[in-house]
Amino acid sequence: MGKDVEELKRRWPLLDYLRQHNWTGRPASRSEFVGLCPLHEETRPSFYVNVRKNVFYCHGCGQGGDLIRFIQLSRHLSFRQSIACIEAQTSVSDDSAAVLEHAAVFYQQQLEHYSEATRYLNRRGLYDAALIRELCIGYAAGGSLRRYLTAQGHSFDLLRQAGLLNARGSDAFYQRIVFPLSQTGHIVNLYGRSIGSGFAHRFLPGTKGGLYAWEKVRHRPEVILVEGLFDYAALRQAGFPNVACSLGTHLNADQFQQLCQGERTVYLTFDVDQNQSGQQAAEQLAHRLGAHGVSTRRVLLPPGHDPNSFFLKGGDAQQFQSLVEAAQP
Ligand SMILES: [Zn+2]
Repeated sequence: MGKDVEELKRRWPLLDYLRQHNWTGRPASRSEFVGLCPLHEETRPSFYVNVRKNVFYCHGCGQGGDLIRFIQLSRHLSFRQSIACIEAQTSVSDDSAAVLEHAAVFYQQQLEHYSEATRYLNRRGLYDAALIRELCIGYAAGGSLRRYLTAQGHSFDLLRQAGLLNARGSDAFYQRIVFPLSQTGHIVNLYGRSIGSGFAHRFLPGTKGGLYAWEKVRHRPEVILVEGLFDYAALRQAGFPNVACSLGTHLNADQFQQLCQGERTVYLTFDVDQNQSGQQAAEQLAHRLGAHGVSTRRVLLPPGHDPNSFFLKGGDAQQFQSLVEAAQP
């Protein structure tokens, strides 16, 4: 019993539970979030969540404890009823994790069967087969996922709920290169880059999770942060192991908190685009991280470039390394 409870709490961190139940909190320290207490009426935030210890404490009503304690208090359930409640909810999320897992495997198998997909990867300068396999990159041709997944026993409702099918019941991803996004070993979302006329970037509904590839770099003293997955792939292919990706220039609270935990220097390597949006975002992020004691440097690529295009236009690892070394706070 005790072991199962620990396992449940590990699989469903308190902060995730609260967020899924519409609690919003802001980082308060390296391991804490603060927000309004869901257990009592208040106007000033006094409800703290410690993500390292996976517990909460409210300075307003004096309540505190773990996920199970929170469910007991918020739903007026006994200890046993609270555990049953979490178990029922995790089995639903297990189904959606499994369906994403199967979709990602299917897309990965499809990649080599479509020459337009491999041509697109080559055009973006991505040719390292081992890296493509490591990142589980796949291809959604469109029109065949629904049949495949229903044959695997997944219900139509689940596919709709996961966002893999659109309102008409057809595959949501069509002519897209697919990158699975994982967190603590589970796929939480899929990113699809259009290779045709569709809108360039798409995710499934729901969380994107934390920083892409964070678990690989979290213990490194220096981390290069890029905004796009093709930038990530280009740098990895060029031999840089210490790269993470924020999937856009606006970090979510989880991503921000990840950068705030531990001692490191973050090398912000956002696009240098004409309208300056990448650089403005980098400047704001550097400022916010600085306020939390995180040291940052801004890597300045030549005008009009992102890391992907830098290598595509003939830049090499040594030149990129020089830019990293020249990066200013
Ligand atoms: Zn309270």
